[in-house]
Amino acid sequence: MRRKSLEVKIGNVLMGANHPVVIQSMTNTDTADIESSLQQVVALADAGSELVRLTVNVEAAALAIPHIKEKLLAKGYTTPIIGDFHYNGHTLLTKVPACAEALDKYRINPGNVGFGETHDKNFKQMIEVALKYDKPVRIGVNWGSLDQSILNRLMDENGRSKKPKSAEEIMVDALCESALTSAKMAHEYGLSPNKIVISVKMSHVQDVIKAYTLLASQCDYALHVGLTEAGMGTKGAVASTAALANLLQNGIGDTIRVSLTPAPDGDRTEEVRVCQLILQALGQRQFQPSVTACPGCGRTTNTLFQEMTQEMEQFFKEKMPVWKKQGLKGVETLKIAVMGCIVNGPGESKQADIGISLPGSGENPKAPVFIDGQKVTTLEGPQMMMTFKKMVEDYVQQKFGN
Ligand code: SF4
Repeated sequence: MRRKSLEVKIGNVLMGANHPVVIQSMTNTDTADIESSLQQVVALADAGSELVRLTVNVEAAALAIPHIKEKLLAKGYTTPIIGDFHYNGHTLLTKVPACAEALDKYRINPGNVGFGETHDKNFKQMIEVALKYDKPVRIGVNWGSLDQSILNRLMDENGRSKKPKSAEEIMVDALCESALTSAKMAHEYGLSPNKIVISVKMSHVQDVIKAYTLLASQCDYALHVGLTEAGMGTKGAVASTAALANLLQNGIGDTIRVSLTPAPDGDRTEEVRVCQLILQALGQRQFQPSVTACPGCGRTTNTLFQEMTQEMEQFFKEKMPVWKKQGLKGVETLKIAVMGCIVNGPGESKQADIGISLPGSGENPKAPVFIDGQKVTTLEGPQMMMTFKKMVEDYVQQKFGN
C-alpha cells in the first residue's frame, strides 16, 4: 500500500498523497549555455520527464534560468524546472531574483550550506526566498556531502552505547537526522510541510533501502527517491531498479530519479526511460505497450523472433506520439507477445491482446496469431512482419479509437 505522504505542488505538477509517482531527471549541460540547456530540457521532457533539474552553480547559470524558462514556455513546455544549489544558493537566489522566480522548486543540500551559525543563516536565507516566491524546496541529503557534525556526534554517542550499531547504520541514522532537522528548521522559518520534499541518497542499494524505510517511518513529507551515483549502463539501471523496486513496492516514493552515468556521447534521456520501465514493470504506471518475448533457446535456429521483437519495440516507440496526438486513450496498456516456438508460444500469445507464435526449428514454418485469446490467422513468408504490424495497428485503432 502507498505510504500516506503530504501533497506537494511543483509548478503544474502534483505529487505525493495519492498522485502517481512522478518521474524526474537532471540536465548535464552547462546551465549558462541557454540553448544547449534548453534543448536538453526539451529532450528530457519529450522522453517523459515530468520535472527537470538544472544545476545553478554560478551567477551566469542563475542569469540563464529565466531565459530557459521563458523559451520553454514559448515552445509550449510547462515542465517544471528545479534549481540545484550547493554552497552559494543563498547568494545566487538573492542576487538574481529572476532566477528565484523562474524556478519551480529549489533543491537545498543541508551538507553544503555552510557550517555552524553560517549554516543556519544561509539556510534561513534560502527558505526566506522560497517563502517570498511561494516555492517548494527539496531538502536533498547526500552521503557524499553529509553534515559531518551530525555524523561525528552520532558516532561518539554510538561509541558510548552498550549496544553499538554498525558504521553503516550510523550513516543511515545521520542522513535521516540531517534531513528531518533541516525540514523542521524550514518549517520553523515558516515553510509549510506541504512545500517540503525530502531525499536521503546513498550509492549502495541496501543502504538506500534502509535509509528511506527509516525516513518513511518518521515523517509524512513527500519523498524523492533515488540511488545516487548509480553508475553506467546496465549496472546503473539494475542497481537503481533493485533499490527503487523494493521501496516503491512498499509504497515508499513520490518522485523518482535514476542517476545514470551516460557514455561520453550517450543519450541523457536514458535515465527517464529506465524510470518508466521500473514503474511499468511494477504495474504502477503505464507508458508504452509492452512486448512479451521469450529469450529463445536451442529450439530457435534463426533470428526472426528477435528481429520481430526489436521491430515491435521500435514500432511502438515511433507510433506512441502519433497515437497520443490522435487521442487514443489507454493504448499504453496494450500487451503483445512475440514467441519463439510452439512450447510456450501459443499459451503466452493467448494471454496477450495480440500474440504471435513463430515457428521454432523443425516446426511447420507458419506462425499462428492470437487476438484476445483466440487464434485468428496463420502468417508465413517474408510479409509476416508487415502483416503483423498492420494487425496491431488495426487492433489499436479499433480498441482505443473513438
Ligand atoms: S518459447 Fe520456445 S523458443 Fe522460446 S524459450 Fe521457450 S522453448 Fe525456447
